[in-house]
Amino acid sequence: MGELKNTFSWSFSAAADFDECRRRRYWSKYGMWGGWNKNTDPETKKAYQLNKMTNRWGLMGVATENTIMRVLRQHQAGNPITADEAYEQVARPLLRRCWGESKRGDWKTNPKRFCCLHGHYYGTIEDEKTAGAQITEQVKNCTRNFIEKVLPRIGNITREQELPVRTPDMGGDPENITWNGLKMYVIPDYAYRIGSAFHIHDWKAGKVKESHREQLGLYAIWAREKFRARPEDIFLYVEYLNHGQVAPFQMVAEDFEALEMRIEESVAEMSEYLVDFDREKNEPLPKEEWELAADPASCKNCSFYELCEQELKHTL
Ligand code: SF4
Repeated sequence: MGELKNTFSWSFSAAADFDECRRRRYWSKYGMWGGWNKNTDPETKKAYQLNKMTNRWGLMGVATENTIMRVLRQHQAGNPITADEAYEQVARPLLRRCWGESKRGDWKTNPKRFCCLHGHYYGTIEDEKTAGAQITEQVKNCTRNFIEKVLPRIGNITREQELPVRTPDMGGDPENITWNGLKMYVIPDYAYRIGSAFHIHDWKAGKVKESHREQLGLYAIWAREKFRARPEDIFLYVEYLNHGQVAPFQMVAEDFEALEMRIEESVAEMSEYLVDFDREKNEPLPKEEWELAADPASCKNCSFYELCEQELKHTL
């Protein structure tokens, strides 16, 4: 196999990281590159390991998504299951496995394969039992709301109507498009087509955030670029499962323009941190040029804290 190339790319989460902390973007895109090789230097290896870390809310989100998809698949197969059954079949085994791997430190042998939770690694989980119970309750609540409020709207969608989306767990390059020569990773949770209409849903197990509309806007660009969907035929739904609410909306021409401008500005800012602003080469400026977080509160839940700790102490 030839050597992998670290190509410049943009995604909603990359932009969010970059906006909050330049250094975090450095670690997750450049500092970790090659950290999977045995002979790499310790800092790169550490960045790679930390980049694979998740936290309990991320784990809860994955457990919820997997659980509701099991509910949907069973429903489509004419064999419906309850929220409790789905939890037992999908969420409980996943949560138990991940929690155990993280506590035992299995990730030390293979950070890509085994879970590492921020709370275990940095010792910030005060009460394991309470933390576990909160996750369980939220996954179950989201699943109940999905069955009551979302399934009646999408339960008749067939597998043939669904649009294929390559997710990171499938291996290989996840779903992406090229827009204006820029590679963008866009991974909608659930999308389907009814005639000329494109419907795209995103599952949110946590709080309502204004930024979610922008994220869904990117999915509209995905539908337009990949399937030649017309803006008036694209229907977007932010599904707040824990609240049992949906925020449906469509994008008009001005919304597309505003979002595209925001992406271009973000890309231009990211390019300033590359040697010669050259996105083709995609060679980062030295680490020190990527500023630490302006707000130290950002560091509290950051996976890369261990790598920044000494430098942060000197800046205080
Ligand atoms: S620990 Fe703080 S400074 Fe370091 S990457 Fe994370 S947010 Fe940025």
